[in-house]
Amino acid sequence: MDDFRFCGCHVSATHGSPAGGRRRQVVVNGRRVRTVDLHAHCIIRKALELSGTKPPMSPLYIDAHQRIREMDDQGVDVEALSIVPFWYGLERELAAEIVRINNDALAELCAQHPERFVALASVALQFPELAVEHLVHAVKKLGLRGAIVGTRVGDAELADPRFHPFWAKAEELGVLIFIHSLPDLPELAHRLKGNGFLSNVIGNPLDTTIALSHLIFEGTLDRYPGLKLCSAHGGGYLPSYSARSDHGCRTFPHRCDSTITLRKKPSEYLREMYFDSLVFTPEALRHLAAEVGAGHIVMGSDHPAGWTTVQVDHILETPGFTDEERAAMLGGTAAKLLGIDYIKP
Ligand SMILES: [Zn+2]
Repeated sequence: MDDFRFCGCHVSATHGSPAGGRRRQVVVNGRRVRTVDLHAHCIIRKALELSGTKPPMSPLYIDAHQRIREMDDQGVDVEALSIVPFWYGLERELAAEIVRINNDALAELCAQHPERFVALASVALQFPELAVEHLVHAVKKLGLRGAIVGTRVGDAELADPRFHPFWAKAEELGVLIFIHSLPDLPELAHRLKGNGFLSNVIGNPLDTTIALSHLIFEGTLDRYPGLKLCSAHGGGYLPSYSARSDHGCRTFPHRCDSTITLRKKPSEYLREMYFDSLVFTPEALRHLAAEVGAGHIVMGSDHPAGWTTVQVDHILETPGFTDEERAAMLGGTAAKLLGIDYIKP
């Protein structure tokens, strides 16, 4: 394998991609840094068709060579591919078949391009004991690096005790679970209609905020302290206003469950979780780092959704980070979480 860690040049990586379709080499203070985009999606057409959804034309149907060209332009060495769950409402056999197709296809893609892709497994979380089997099979037999889960399963929160076996297995395996919002908050559909695509721009971060708050306040994170959780979209709104979470039960103790004693302040749990960098501005990234620690941020773009193509520059150009912190955000921390051993953290 080629080794770019010492490229000997001091060319800033902030100036676009090289002409001629070559891979953009990301450099931090003279050192080549291998980058990992932890928030990247695809769809396996056969699985979506099986779900009864009419497949749209979508860049999510992955064409590996096209995808790699885009990664080269963006300075992304490795994408951690995941499929946003669309099977949580399906019956057991069908959901299991969709998961099987997804995970086999992801494993094949990673095997074909082992230096460019790793993948997070699909699991049928609506059947927790089956999801445990899916996770074990995907990690141990298929070489996937963890799993993606939605922020809710029907009406159930991720903190629901029915999911404890899944969290226990993820903790035991030491693999990353990527928490991703699901489309449309049914309870808020009425208020989120109208102009602005509010169901997404407000709904997604709110969805994540609610899911994480339950995991904190119901004691799930105390129960499974070794869990490695990473949330999409910078954790939604939670890191922006987490101090309020510290004051609710203090101000209104009678509104909180006296049988649950958290081991630490609610906001302190953010420092045990990981978050992607998809927060758009230098100020937002600075604040996220102030709340969760720079070592708990991983690069994420939502590729190919198109929210950003400058995820590398966002991290390089946000003031105030050390070179080591930038390198960790660009790839080192994700490599560690995903077990990518050809990237030295
Ligand atoms: Zn996404």
